Amino acid sequence: MNIILLGYPGAGKGTQAEFLVKEQKFDHISTGDMIRKEIALATPLGKEVESCIKQGNLVSDELIIKLVEQVLKNGNTARILDGFPRTIPQAQSLEKSLKALNQKIDYVLFLELSKEEVLKRLTSRRLCSKCGAIHNIYASNFTEKCSCGGELITRSDDTLESATHRIEVFEEQTRPLVEFYNSSIGITRIDASKPAREVNNDILRAIGLKK
Ligand code: AMP
Repeated sequence: MNIILLGYPGAGKGTQAEFLVKEQKFDHISTGDMIRKEIALATPLGKEVESCIKQGNLVSDELIIKLVEQVLKNGNTARILDGFPRTIPQAQSLEKSLKALNQKIDYVLFLELSKEEVLKRLTSRRLCSKCGAIHNIYASNFTEKCSCGGELITRSDDTLESATHRIEVFEEQTRPLVEFYNSSIGITRIDASKPAREVNNDILRAIGLKK
């Protein structure tokens, strides 16, 4: 089963993917995580895209498509696609790659959240530098360190300036996917303003894994 999570950066795609990976045994395909790993390892690719990510711009379709093609061929066939596709050419390429593997996209879920809430969430988000878990400084259970002992860091693109720009980039380049999928597979809208566990339950119901 292939599930696409669409929505503004900060709408909770990563958090929801974490639930589905831990509890439902999906593979997590996060192009953002893949790129951040390349940057952390200072690979040639990481060095090439570092400033682009920091400013909140999208990395080229060509590069992202290559990264995803490699992981689609391996591993589990139950996948959560988080942050991919983000443009129409990426969506077309995904369709082609899955078709070649005799697979398809089963669900496209759109996590809906207002721009104001997205900005608040992005600028208060912290990432564990060790396990990648997502935290928020306003959460009642927020602690200075992750439960795995890792230090919490702020993503370089979670500044107010970069976050605001990423919302604009979403509107220009990713929003057209709503029409693209509406006219093919269909999109299920999920209210992402609810507490994370409730959003998780709504997702499980939407994909037929819970009554
Ligand atoms: P994310 O962690 O999904 O918010 O992604 C962080 C950043 O990685 C984005 O702002 C882009 O710069 C880059 N990125 C992630 N996924 C893609 C994609 N599918 N296409 C282009 N750039 C991407």
